[in-house]
Amino acid sequence: LPFPADLYRPLRTNSKGVEFGDRDALAELLAERDAAPAILHAAPSSGRSARPPRELRSPIDSSLIGSVVEADVETARAAMATAARVFSAWEATAIEARVAILERAADLVETRRGALIALLQSESGKTLDDALAEIREAADLIRYYAEQARRLCAEENLPGPTGEDNRLRRRGRGVFVCISPWNFPLAIFLGQVAAALAAGNSAIAKPAEQTPLVAREAVALLHEAGVPHGALHYIPGDGAVGSALVADPHVAGVVFTGSSETAQSINRTLAASNGPIVPLIAETGGVNSMIVDSTALLEQVVDDVLASAFRSAGQRCSALRLLCLQEDIAEDALAMLIGATKELRIGDPRDPSTHIGPVIDSAARARLCDYLTERRAQGRVLYAGEAPQSGSFVAPHIIRLDRAGDLREEIFGPVLHIAKWRAENEKDLSTLIDEISANGFGLTMGLHTRIEARMRIFAEATPAGNLYVNRNMIGAVVGSQPFGGSRMSGTGPKAGGPDYLRRFLREETVTINT
Ligand code: NAP
Repeated sequence: LPFPADLYRPLRTNSKGVEFGDRDALAELLAERDAAPAILHAAPSSGRSARPPRELRSPIDSSLIGSVVEADVETARAAMATAARVFSAWEATAIEARVAILERAADLVETRRGALIALLQSESGKTLDDALAEIREAADLIRYYAEQARRLCAEENLPGPTGEDNRLRRRGRGVFVCISPWNFPLAIFLGQVAAALAAGNSAIAKPAEQTPLVAREAVALLHEAGVPHGALHYIPGDGAVGSALVADPHVAGVVFTGSSETAQSINRTLAASNGPIVPLIAETGGVNSMIVDSTALLEQVVDDVLASAFRSAGQRCSALRLLCLQEDIAEDALAMLIGATKELRIGDPRDPSTHIGPVIDSAARARLCDYLTERRAQGRVLYAGEAPQSGSFVAPHIIRLDRAGDLREEIFGPVLHIAKWRAENEKDLSTLIDEISANGFGLTMGLHTRIEARMRIFAEATPAGNLYVNRNMIGAVVGSQPFGGSRMSGTGPKAGGPDYLRRFLREETVTINT
C-alpha cells in the first residue's frame, strides 16, 4: 500500500535533517505528541470580541478539544486599522531581519512538531503521515518565501542613458488579508501569512471555522520568532468576518485558498470597492482526473490511484476524482483497484497504521452520505467500504459514470468516479482531455502511459495547473513542483513557486538625473 509507508522514509525536503526513518524515531515522535496539552482555547490576538466561546469537538470521536472566541466584525475592523498603522514600520525593517525572523519561525515549526501533530490530529483528523507531511511543507514554505523575499527585495540597477540612474525596487503593499481553508490548516495558513510578511506586508490571518486551534499555535510561533504583534493579527471567525475583512477600506491585497464559490464572492466584493484596486490571489477547487491507457503498468496505477483518491480521506484540492480507464484494460484495472481499496484501514488517525481518518465534520459527512445515497439509488456504486459509525467517517467509494464529462462538481471526500474511454487513434486522447476540461476547472490531471506521443499530447493539450505523468497526483513539493491552477481553480501565481511573492509586492522605479 502506498501510504502510510511514507512515515518510514526519510524526509524528502530541506527540513533540517529531521528524519523519521525508523521505529525509534517514530516512538519519540508519538511521545512528543502525547505530551501536548489536551484541551486548548483560542481568541483573537488583538482586541476584545463580544462573542461567547464556541466549543470545538474532534471529528475523530466528537470529544471536546477546546474552545474559540471568534472575532466579531468590530474586532476584525480594529485589527485592520492597527495592521495599517504598523505596516510602514514592519516594511521598513531590513530584509535580512525579516528573513531571520521567518527562518526562526520555520525552526520553531519543526521543534514544536509534537504539539502541532496533536492539534492537526485532534482538530482536523489528520493521519500521522499527513500531519508530518504538513509540518514539513509548512516549514519549507516559510523558508522558501523568506529566501524569495531576500532575492526580490534587493534593489536592482537598470540600464539607461548616460547621466541617468534607474533603479527598480519592490516593497510591501500594506495590509494583506489571508483567508485559509481547514484541509491544510497549518501549511496553507502559514504559507499565506509567511508570504505576506516576507514581502513586507502586515497580515490579518483568518483560519477556517473548523481549525482555529492549530492556526492559533502557528501565529503564536510567528510572534515568538519576532513578528511584531501589530503586524500579524489572528482573527478567527466565520465567513461574515472574512467578508468584512475583504470589504475593509484598509485592505491592500487578499490571499485566499478555498472553494471557487467563495473566491468569486471575494472577487465581487473587491470589484465593487471604490477604493484602490487590490490584487486577489485565489487558489480554489478542482475536478481532477487521471487517464490510464492500456500500456500502463497496472500495479503502479493502483498505488497511485489509492494515494491520489483516498489519502487524507480525499480532502485535498489536488485529489483524484475521476479515473478514466481505457476500455480494454478497464475490468482488470477495476478488479485490482477494488481489491487494494479493501485493504485500506479506516479509523482513528492517531494510530500510525491508519490509512484513512475522518472527514472534517458531521456536516461534510452528511453531504457526502447524501451524494452516495443518490448514486446508490441510481445503481452506480461499484464499491463501498465500511466506516466506523462514531465520529465523522466516510468509507472509500467507487462510483461508475457513463461518460467522463458527467462529473461537473467537486466531491470533497474519499469518492472516486470511474469512466471508460475508447482509444482508436491519438486524437482520442485530445478528445477525452477536451471532454474532461469542459467542467471549467484546471487544477491537477494525471496520465499513465508508456507512449511518448501521448505524454506530449497530454502535456500540451491539458489546461490544468499541475500535470503528473506515471505517478500520483498529490503532495507537490515546495520549490520543485509549484502548485496551483487556472480557470475555475485559481488566479495563479503558484504557491511554492518563484513568482508567488511578486503578487504580494508593489514595484517602484526610481529615476534620478545625476
Ligand atoms: P471555503 O468554504 O471556501 O472556505 C475557505 C475560507 O473562506 C474559510 O476560512 C471560510 O470561513 C472563508 N469564507 C467563507 N465565506 C467567505 C466570504 N464570503 N468572504 C471571505 N471569506 C469567506 O472552503 P473550505 O470548505 O474551507 O475548503 C475546501 C475547498 O478549498 C475545496 O474546494 C478545495 O478544493 C479548496 N482548496 C484549494 C486549494 C488550492 O491550493 N487550490 C488548497 C486547499 C483547498 P469559514 O470557515 O468561516 O466558512
